Amino acid sequence: MNTRLALKITAITAIPLSFRLDQGKTVTMGIGSTTKRDTIIVRVETSEGITGYGEAHPGRSPGAVVSLIHNTLAPMLIGMSATDVIGVWKRVHRMQLSSHGVGSGASLGLSGIDMALWDIRGKAANMPLYELLGGSKRRLPAYAGGISLGYQPKESLAEEAQEYVARGYKAIKLRLGDSAKADIERVLHVRKVLGDDIDILTDANTAYTLADVRRVLPVLAEIKAGWLEEPFACNDFSSYREAAKITPLVPIAVGENHYGRFEFAQLREAGAVQIWQPDLSKCGGITEGLAIAAMASAYRIPMHTHSSATGINHAATIHFMAAIENSGYFEACVSHFNPLRDMFGTTFEIGADGCVEPLHKPGIGLEIDEGLFAKYPLIDGPGYVVKF
Ligand SMILES: [Mg+2]
Repeated sequence: MNTRLALKITAITAIPLSFRLDQGKTVTMGIGSTTKRDTIIVRVETSEGITGYGEAHPGRSPGAVVSLIHNTLAPMLIGMSATDVIGVWKRVHRMQLSSHGVGSGASLGLSGIDMALWDIRGKAANMPLYELLGGSKRRLPAYAGGISLGYQPKESLAEEAQEYVARGYKAIKLRLGDSAKADIERVLHVRKVLGDDIDILTDANTAYTLADVRRVLPVLAEIKAGWLEEPFACNDFSSYREAAKITPLVPIAVGENHYGRFEFAQLREAGAVQIWQPDLSKCGGITEGLAIAAMASAYRIPMHTHSSATGINHAATIHFMAAIENSGYFEACVSHFNPLRDMFGTTFEIGADGCVEPLHKPGIGLEIDEGLFAKYPLIDGPGYVVKF
């Protein structure tokens, strides 16, 4: 890196983007039915003219997270060195996360800022992010995920899964948490149709009770499911501990709703989760993701990093996974209804080997055309509806 560049942070701008799904295009899963998709692009500008882009998860309230970034986080970070990602983490931790701050919201905002700072670092060093992080351009196994394979008749579910397998995926993720009975019927049918060579992963999006899990986990063991993700609320450690006793054959996975190293440390101490899935647009960004990955490595916990919604987070996640020693599957968004994924061009291509590889341009490696933002104006409020 050219250390003569001052690279001071001069501006931090959060740009919320939304689009409403057409009638009948919803996917239903444990967190409800999708009505729209939202994201927040974070642009960080520097004194040297290098601009970085990151992605912050909208946390079901994109307007609030945008306000937090503009009115609380940006003022404390303007003027700092854009390469000082540790200093930025320390300042946000001290002023927002450690006391009197909006914890997960600040973590979402920090994630987008930190990701943009790593994009800047890569551009300044003229290195793709995976190289800057110490990784290699290696191929990473991917599964067909994102908002797809929801609650639907088992026949159409199996057809949809076959479509992804035909594209090259060797692993797919089914949504559970409907009812134990419906979930069991679906997983048994999909296993029968796909045969034994495809890895079937499952995700209840926190909709299960312990009683549901007692019924479903033995069936997941029977079909050799790769994991059961988020059966319970993120901090319901007692239920996670009980679920872990049911069978050693199906690991329990969580992490997309855990924020920062301290929450992952608590997960480890609870001793009930065998797979971690932090999301770089939620957990605090790449800097925090590296800290979590190192902790996981020490306990031989694989990192099957969660990702959504635009190509920025997808591309950053693949770089990150190519640079940690304990990466598992990349979650490839195969949603039929996510133009945000593709708006900056192709960020990943699934190969016949079921793998993807990182982009090779400096930084995160995407050209961000801000002219496209006008097509997706903010629609505030939650993106899922639940029938109570
Ligand atoms: Mg999930």
